[in-house]
Amino acid sequence: MEVIKSVNLLKERTEQIRQSGRQIGFVPTMGYLHEGHQALMENARKANDVLVVSIFVNPLQFGQGEDFDTYPRDEQRDKQLAEDHKVDILFLPDVEEMYPNKPVIEMKVACRVDVLCGRSRNGHFDGVVTVLTKLFHLVQPHRVYFGLKDAQQAAVVDALVKDLNFPLEVVPVSTVREEDGLAKSSRNVYLSKEERLEAKEIYQALQLGRQLVIDGEKNPDTVVKEVEDFINKHTHGKIDYVEMLTFPELTTFDLVTGQVILAVAVQFEKARLIDNVIFDQNGHISERL
Ligand code: AMP
Repeated sequence: MEVIKSVNLLKERTEQIRQSGRQIGFVPTMGYLHEGHQALMENARKANDVLVVSIFVNPLQFGQGEDFDTYPRDEQRDKQLAEDHKVDILFLPDVEEMYPNKPVIEMKVACRVDVLCGRSRNGHFDGVVTVLTKLFHLVQPHRVYFGLKDAQQAAVVDALVKDLNFPLEVVPVSTVREEDGLAKSSRNVYLSKEERLEAKEIYQALQLGRQLVIDGEKNPDTVVKEVEDFINKHTHGKIDYVEMLTFPELTTFDLVTGQVILAVAVQFEKARLIDNVIFDQNGHISERL
């Protein structure tokens, strides 16, 4: 595995790889790698000749008062994990390398951000598309891998690639969970013991919502209300949102007729957890972009 910190060196290497006719799979991350990231790496490893992973905690996508400074980091452990997962190139730039001067160009996401996390995390997705545009240009991947745990991010990236004609394929990967259903997340380390026990109820609430659709409930307001009641009854977390929207367009609707997302965000003392399920009008899991 080659560890690269320089933008110019990364560009040189990935250009060489493309020239030689090999296909590049790319997994962008913020590090503190866990089984969710590993699933993306495994998918990318299988479908491509070369696997590039980046670890960069991107300051542009953190708002004021968010956890940029305290975001969990462990470079040595991440390097070992990447090595174990047969990563070919691990890109580990520092902030000055990615943003050497004040940006002249600012990107703004126009749709798919007035809902879910976009509503409370003002400017978050502008920061996400900015860093991804830079990374896509540097890596020039054939395929990029995104986890559906961050489904709104996957929907925004899907729009970025289509709107701006990036010559690459976005591959969505199903959410990897703990045995009790809690979605794996770098931020789970912030949970207290009691909160960790309660956190599993979030997935139970989502399953309850999906079951209502399977049983014939087509009204999103009814489903949302039931899910909210369940979370309030079974956790001390504060609900940031429970929403049901079309996926990946992320628009509201009156009756479930196609692929939809049921998504939640719950604030615990130090951790804000997000999770979702994506399914069709019959409640069957369906995760197309
Ligand atoms: P992050 O390091 O949190 O920015 O995540 C990097 C990538 O890993 C994103 O595409 C996430 O959606 C994905 N990811 C994070 N957690 C999970 C999970 N539990 N299952 C699948 N993918 C995940």
